[in-house]
Amino acid sequence: MSYIDVKYLNLISPMLPLFKKKGDNLWNFRCPYCGDSQKSRTKARGYVFRRKADLFYKCHNCGAGATLANLIKHVDSKTYDDYILERYREEGEHRSKNSPVPKPEFKFDAPVFKKDIFKSLRSISQLASTHPARRLVEARGIPEKFLSNDLYLCESFYKFTNTLVKNKFPSLSGDHPRLMIPFRNEEGEIFAYQGRAFGKELPKYITIKLDEDADKIYGLDRADKNKQIYVVEGPIDSMFLDNCIAVAGADFSKPLSIGGRLMLNGELTIIFDNEPRNKEICKQIEKTISQGRNVVIWPDSMKHKDINDMILAGYSKKDIQQIITDNTFQTAAASLRFAEWRKINA
Ligand SMILES: [Zn+2]
Repeated sequence: MSYIDVKYLNLISPMLPLFKKKGDNLWNFRCPYCGDSQKSRTKARGYVFRRKADLFYKCHNCGAGATLANLIKHVDSKTYDDYILERYREEGEHRSKNSPVPKPEFKFDAPVFKKDIFKSLRSISQLASTHPARRLVEARGIPEKFLSNDLYLCESFYKFTNTLVKNKFPSLSGDHPRLMIPFRNEEGEIFAYQGRAFGKELPKYITIKLDEDADKIYGLDRADKNKQIYVVEGPIDSMFLDNCIAVAGADFSKPLSIGGRLMLNGELTIIFDNEPRNKEICKQIEKTISQGRNVVIWPDSMKHKDINDMILAGYSKKDIQQIITDNTFQTAAASLRFAEWRKINA
């Protein structure tokens, strides 16, 4: 992304009501296409965000989308002329400095984005009850409804992945079976998947993205955005709670949209693993509290580190949902409780 893009976005910002920088490569303001909410003067649903090397605009109210150049043009045509000129000059300098310019090889494989890319695999429900893969899934206490469409067996993980992402694993040596967890979008299409090792193979979880731009969010096909959304880290943990999604190894503080709607902080309840000694988790909790999201901090009496372990230790889904309700905190109360939890368990 060119610094010129950011410079011109800032140049037009006085013409964008409620303009605010929200994060690295993320800006928010009232939509200049639809004028945003007429009822509320404080609603701002236009976003500029980065995708690959460029900035784009998207409105979550009217659905308008534009390149940064077109947004600038729409807001102020004079600034647009300057922007084009400056971009042109910059590219010219770049060309002369690096000449002769090798033409960048732009390989584009259309994302495989289908419902049936797992059709060559057997779902766990299709395996005999004595099959080791089925036994592992059942030993984890995973509810039966997930065995037919949400968990599969892949006999050769590297080889299978290479059929979807060319040359992902250049060598097939050490290939092994994995439990497959498909990440589906709201339409049920698979855009990523996670392979969990059955044995000691490392890493224990490998996540493959079929669409590089998609965030690794699991459970979008089941999430009801009109109800409180619960967010955990692991896809398997999410199977034990209602309306629960998982951000696989990702940042809990990123903007999250479901079904095309950006979720408000209050609509999300973030459930961290019960690991006060894990520095990375503590960092994430602090960041999430400062954003104003609801955060679950487990009671000191809880000795198990994640939801699956709680289930295996005999807690029912209802028990866990009650503990979550009783231990959800926000803002100042969350900061206090977090400090305590960290100290007592350190
Ligand atoms: Zn709009």
